[in-house]
Parts: sequence; structure tokens; C-alpha cells
Amino acid sequence: MTMVQFTNSEDSLHAADRRAGEEERYIQQIAPTLGYGYVYLRGYSINPEAIPLLPEKRARELEVVCFDIKQKNISLAAKKPTDPKVQALVQEFALRKYTVTIFMCSTQSLEHAWKRYADITTSSAEKKGVLEIDPQVISQLMTKIKAVSDVQSELKSINTINNSRRISETIELLFAGAIALKASDVHIEPEGAAVRVRYRFDGVLHDIVDVDSYIYERMLSRLKLLSGMILNSKKVAQDGRFTFDTGERHIEVRSSIIPGAQSESIVMRILDPSVASFSMENLRLNPRIKEAILAELKKPNGLIITSGPTGSGKTTALYAFLKEAHNDGVKIITIENPVEYKLDGIVQTQVGDDYSFADGLRAILRQDPDIIMVGEVRDTEVAETAIHAAQTGHLVFTTLHTNSAAAAFARLIDMGIDARSFGTAVNIVLGQRLVRVLCAACKEPYIADASETSTIKTILATHPAPPTLSEQVTLYRPTGCAECGDTGFKGRQAIIEGISMDKAVEEAVIRDPREHVILEAAKPQGIPSMAADGIEKVLEGITSLAELGRVVELPAAGTVETSEGTTPGAPADDDFLKHVV
Ligand SMILES: [Zn+2]
Repeated sequence: MTMVQFTNSEDSLHAADRRAGEEERYIQQIAPTLGYGYVYLRGYSINPEAIPLLPEKRARELEVVCFDIKQKNISLAAKKPTDPKVQALVQEFALRKYTVTIFMCSTQSLEHAWKRYADITTSSAEKKGVLEIDPQVISQLMTKIKAVSDVQSELKSINTINNSRRISETIELLFAGAIALKASDVHIEPEGAAVRVRYRFDGVLHDIVDVDSYIYERMLSRLKLLSGMILNSKKVAQDGRFTFDTGERHIEVRSSIIPGAQSESIVMRILDPSVASFSMENLRLNPRIKEAILAELKKPNGLIITSGPTGSGKTTALYAFLKEAHNDGVKIITIENPVEYKLDGIVQTQVGDDYSFADGLRAILRQDPDIIMVGEVRDTEVAETAIHAAQTGHLVFTTLHTNSAAAAFARLIDMGIDARSFGTAVNIVLGQRLVRVLCAACKEPYIADASETSTIKTILATHPAPPTLSEQVTLYRPTGCAECGDTGFKGRQAIIEGISMDKAVEEAVIRDPREHVILEAAKPQGIPSMAADGIEKVLEGITSLAELGRVVELPAAGTVETSEGTTPGAPADDDFLKHVV
């Protein structure tokens, strides 16, 4: 019996060998007819520096592997080199100024080369760029953590036992906690004897735990190493990045260190793809602005600008628009600083030392795109190129750092753009902020007092189609419960205003680009201002009046004022992370 089984399995082994041999011969024959070289990677000395140029998941998806790199020349082995996804990858590399030579290879060559990914991750636990956390550990911790207090109690249990993995476990806990609580940033700040850890979630910083400085110093070394920073320098600001896996998702972390009196502080931005699900639906737009945006997204060309301070959700909005505009018939290329989330079917590039927004935009235009996203317009050259692209048959999305939609025009004129070009180049300008959404489990209704009612009425007076107010206005305020980690809020929501380009606006911008003039011209469009959009959300119980007042300027009770949508701005996010908008 055993003999028979043995022979059988040997037979099937031979059959597999035979098939592999046939494929190998086939690839070898067909490669030159398709114009590609052929490579057999099993006998090849694969360059370990080439492997990480492409994440393993993507390499397996596309059935490719980077197997050699010399300066900026990459050798890429592909099973299906003509696959459009492989071609798109080559273009991505090209935009990053790499030259790619494609070779054809077989499945067994790929399988062999992909094994090298394991070497990279296991050869050193503290290798630059990849944090070695067991995804299971992370996901177990994540299920345990429901509120800030859970992070505190977990940290206690790590520190009570005589634990040789204290440092690693503290790091694991801080990241698992950040993801479980949907934090966007982890701040670690030495303060006296203790080191304070804070998370930013829903746009606001929350104290989480204190760790002792002995542990912190060791954590810091590890985090610096991971981020690719210089270890022994404690007097300079440094930036870096690394990644880890939760089992389900690939999390990217961008870290930044600044020197301090006692020790360095580190801030890590967590880019969790699951936090961001980009869709027009999720933006929950007011119907009037939604209609205006959808109409612009259907046009083949023109500029769509979103404006607002750092942390106002501009990128999230643009990503949702890109997704809405995306279909198989169009080519979309982005240039971002940096690429925050990978979007399917879209070629994304990011600025670097030798690749500026201006360089990138010029390179992108040579790639025959239909739709372009430029992360931010911050100088004349980029503004001019974007305007020109919009006038020559491209739909261009971008962001501007201004306080309101109306202010965007003056900003572009300041950059040297001719106001007369707006009419043909600009489709719509949006202004936005994020407000925190009240926790549905604990929000508390109350009757608005006279001053609150007056504020609401003043703003609604500017609303083109105001909701009717009842005699007594019911509002909601936060209280705090286990569901929301005692913050009273859960998630955020954009409030958005917009100005479409029409004859009246075009003429106003040329005549006098001051905000109130443009707003007056745009009035017939009937799109509510940010404040008016916000008041609707207050009346719907989505957010509180105080929260709205945190992000937009509300008129004091009794003052009569026409809201211009100008605001003092949300509390600034971390200034050094300006790229995240
Ligand atoms: Zn709650």
C-alpha cells in the first residue's frame, strides 16, 4: 500500500516538473517574439536591493518581480509583460525616474524570487522600513481595545510582568491601539520624568498613557531605525517612514522627529487604508453642492479646486471625486506629496527630492492622461501648468491653501495667474472644513437658548433654501460613553461650500476679485456657505453648535452679518506634516 502511494505522489511530482519544464520552454521561445529578453531566476543571483522596490503583495498580484537594480535601472521579470497593469507599473517607475527593462519569466522563476521577500522581513527584526509585528498579535490587541482606558490597562499588564519583550510589546500596543481607536497620529512627547503618549482622533489630540523614559529611549531607537533615520543624532529634525501589517491591511506610518530639551519627540502619522473609504456617498454632501460637483465631474476638462487649511479633508474629497470620475475608458494620473492611499486603477506618483510638483505635472502631461490630480498648487509654475492643462482637454483636480472658496480666486491671481483665464479654465472651487460627528449612542438633546437661536437665524438668513425652524429649536450636545471613548464624538464629516464658474462669476473675478464681490455674483447658484451647510448639520443633530463654532466663525448673537464663508480655520494640525490635507 505504502509503495503504491509513494509511486503515485512521485508520479504527480514528475507531472508537475514536466509542466513547469514545458512552461519554461514556452516562455523561452515566446519572449523574443514579443520583443522581450528571457530570464531564468532559479540560477540567477538576485539583487536583494531590488526585491523591496515593489511590495510583495503587488508583485504577486501582477506576477512580476524586481530582480536587479543598478543606479536607476531596474530589471523586472514578468510573466505577462504586455498586461496593462504591468505597463502601468513601468510607467509609475518611469515617473520616479527609473528605467525599467522587462524580461519574461516563468511561474517557477517568480515563485523562487518571491521567496526572497521572506528573507528581507526575517533577516533582521529591526530592518529599516518594516516593523516586524505578528499580524495576529496586532489583530488580537485590536479586538481588545475599545476605549482609551483599554490601552492603559494593557500597558499596565505589559509592565507588571518581568517582561523581556517590554519594548516590543509597548510598540505593538501603541500601534494596535492607534488603529483600533482610528487615530490619525501618535504623538510621543517627553515631559519631565514621564513620556506622554497622545493619539489624534477625529481631529483632536487625546491623552492616552505615560510610558517611562527608560522604555521610551529604547522605543525611540527602534522607531528611528525602522524609519530609516540616523540613530546617534539627537539634535536634528528627521523624517522617515515604515510599514506594518495587521493581517488584513497594510499600514503605512510616516514618522517625524524633532529634538527637544530632554529628548526627542516623535510624531507618527498612521495611514490606514480602511479608515478612508473614498466615495461621494461617504462625503454625505448637501444635495445642492453634490449636484454642482457631479455636473463638473462629467465634463472632459477644466479645473476643480478644493480649498481649506491643513486637516480640512481636502485630499479625502479629491480621492472621492477621482473615484467617481474613474472608469475604464479614462487614464488618471496623480502627483501627490506623498501618496496617502493607493487607489485602484489610478497611476499615483509622489514628489521627491528630484521630482517636484512642476516636474511631475510636466511628466504626467506627456503620459496622455484624461484626468490629473495635483496634490497642491503652491507656486506660479504649477498654477500655470495646471491652468494650461485644464484648458487643453484635461480634467484637473487640485487643492489650495485658502480659507474659503471665494478666496481661492484672489490666491491664484496673487500667484500671477491672469484673471481672464479663469472663465475657460476653472469649473468649480470648493471650500471645506471637517466637523466631528456626535456619538449617536450618547448625544443629548436640549432646547437652544435665545443666543444660540439668534446665531442660527443669522446664518440661515444667508442660506438660499433655509430649513424651517420650529418655535423651539432642538439641538444636540456631546456627553460621552464607552462607545465613543468618552469623547462624545465619533467620526468626522465635511461641511462644504462651492462656487461654480458661470458668466457672472467670471465677470466678477475680472472686475474685482474680492470675496464679497464674488459671493454676490455666485448667489444665484444657490449653494449654501460652509457655515450654512454646518448649521443644517447642527439642526439635523449630526454635530453640535459648539463644534461648528470650533471650525467656522459663527456670528455672535444679535449681530447682523452676511456670512462670507471666511473662517479662522480649524486648529492647525501638526505643522511639519503639511502634506496631509
Ligand atoms: Zn458616546
